This record gives sequence, C-alpha cells and structure tokens, in this order.
Amino acid sequence: MSHPTRHSERLRAAQVEVGRQGASLLVVGLSSSMKYLTGFSDEPGERLLLLLVPAEGDALFVVPQLYEAQTRKASGRADVVAWSDGEGAAGALSEALGRLAPHGCVLVDDGLWASSLLPIQKALPQCQFASAGSVLAALRMRKDSDEVALLERAGACADAAFAGILEAGFEGRTELELAAQLEEAMVEAGAEEPAFKTLVATGPNSALPHYRAGDRRVCRGDVVILDFGCRVGGYCSDISRTVVCGRPSDEVRRAHAAVKEAQRLAVAAVRPGQRACDIDRTAREHLEGEGLGREFIHRTGHGIGLDIHEHPYIAEGNSLPLQKGMTFSIEPGVYFPDRFGVRIEDVVVVTESGARAMTAATHELCVVR
Ligand code: ZN
Ligand code: ZN
Repeated sequence: MSHPTRHSERLRAAQVEVGRQGASLLVVGLSSSMKYLTGFSDEPGERLLLLLVPAEGDALFVVPQLYEAQTRKASGRADVVAWSDGEGAAGALSEALGRLAPHGCVLVDDGLWASSLLPIQKALPQCQFASAGSVLAALRMRKDSDEVALLERAGACADAAFAGILEAGFEGRTELELAAQLEEAMVEAGAEEPAFKTLVATGPNSALPHYRAGDRRVCRGDVVILDFGCRVGGYCSDISRTVVCGRPSDEVRRAHAAVKEAQRLAVAAVRPGQRACDIDRTAREHLEGEGLGREFIHRTGHGIGLDIHEHPYIAEGNSLPLQKGMTFSIEPGVYFPDRFGVRIEDVVVVTESGARAMTAATHELCVVR
C-alpha cells in the first residue's frame, strides 16, 4: 500500500531533522528506512542503490536502471539518477553528489553496506561521516495512525494462529512442525509472511530465550514457549505465550503467575512521559520481589515497526521519555537452565493515557494436549 503524501511528509521531516543535526546530507541504502521514507524497498544487493536526502532541495535516488521505473513511481518528491550495468555506478554517483554538493557532515544509515559507503567517502574527502541512527529513530519511533492500523492487523493474524494451535495436539510433534503450523496460520489469516523465524522452544529448550525450533518432540509435562509474528503492509507483530503439555507443576504455575503479573504491571505503567527504563524497572521489581530477579536475563522489550527490533528499547539505562504513538514489546521472562522457561509478550502502542495491546490472546497458562 502506497501513500505518496505520507512519504513526501516523511521525506520533508527527514530533511528538517538532517538540518537540525547540522548535517548537509542523509544517505540511505536499501533498508526499512528507505521503505519508510519513500515506500520503495527490496533486498539489499551488490548493485549501488541509494536515496540521498539533502537538508535543502529535493531528494535523489541513485539506482540501477532496472529499478528506475519502480523508484520513479515510489516517490514524487525524489528525482532519479539511473546507471546501467554496462557503464557502472561511478558516473551516476558523481553526477548525484555533484548536484547535491554536500559539505560538512554527512549522515549515513546504519545498515549501509561498505561497498556503497566507501565510494561516497572517496568522492567526498572534505566531508565528515556520522551515523544517521538517531535521526532515523527519532522519525520512525512515533507511529502514525496508518502504521498503527497495520501493526494491529499483524497482531490479529498472530492471535488467530495462537487460537488455532491451542486446538491442535502438541504431544509427539516436533518444534519445527509446530512452528510451520503457526506460520501457515498467520499467512492464512492475511499476513504477507512471518516477521522472523518462529520460535518454538519445548521442555529444556524453553530455558534458552533465543532458541529457535528444532526436531525435538513435545513430551507430556513439557513447558513450551511459542514466540512468533508476521508482517502486514511491511509492519510486524510479535507475541510470546507459554503453554504446558499436560498438567503443569506447582513450580511452573508459580513462575507463570509471576511473569504474567510482571507483564501486566509493566503494560499498566506505560503512559506518555514515563521513561523506557521505568517500564523495565516495573517488570524487574515484581520478579525480584518473587525471588526471580536472577532468572530474568534480558531487557523487557524492544520497539517494533517495519523492523522487528527498533527503537525504543525498553531496557535499564534508557531514560528516553515515552511518547504517544511509540510501539514496543513488553516481554518479561524467567529461565531455569536445563529445565524450563516462561515468557509472555505483547506489543503495545502508547496512547494519550496508557497503552493498548496489538494482541489479545489469553495470558492464562494454557494446557495443551
Ligand atoms: Zn517475540
Ligand atoms: Zn519481541
């Protein structure tokens, strides 16, 4: 879905921000930031493809000829300088830089490949180069209503997949089979694709926060962490739920109840003006009070949008004040090595007075067959 007006506004906002940082040019490669600013994206590759955003004047694409039509369509505000495979990119790059005449500081997208950056640095020996990370984060952190609507739709697809898998039997199936079922269900519900490799961690594997999925089969009594999400319009969902195959032990019940309450308290603490670290502290303090502080071995959450992990990070030491429209996960967890783990995660958007979750699946400890 393309919104030329919105992209023009975003490009304009980027230009203002570049000027405010005292820089003359922002260089963006094929990345989620290019998609955010222009609506155009693709997988990054070896051919030079850049969006050059000057503090003043019009933005300029430098693209291989085979992308010329697509990039012209993508943004009314950006002109296009194309190069052919036969002649190479050097001439187009020097024409574009000649037109924009950057001076002083040039800001560079964090994901730009060295093969793109090095020729630019060589062409501009008089310029200093710095990361554009904070400029792009400042623009992208607060979502507009279209973006929130897509995040909500992506959340609904994840909810549908969770509801479906609860109906299925778990015992005897492999983690990869369960992951494939979740991914298919999300696409069936209307998603474009999984947002990341679905994580199904069973039994002792659930004690590894970033374990993916393998060929272990679910046994009776296993705790299972499901962590999955999908994209709609490029925007991601991300949800974690912990279920048990058969009767949960008292220890599992207690750990689950503690994580559930930590997650609820952290979501309830969200409102504009609160600092990101305060939300982390809220979850952490509850788990510490339950004697589980040492088992909570990661930050409470991460921003989410076109990227699965982006600013703001809900972590100790991040004193960034939350603002309306910011979207991030809240996902406390506890992990007992070689035994089991529990994590509960929802993505929320900061509203006028609090937070609204993008997913609605139950937080109760679900027992599966
Ligand atoms: Zn997740
Ligand atoms: Zn997450």
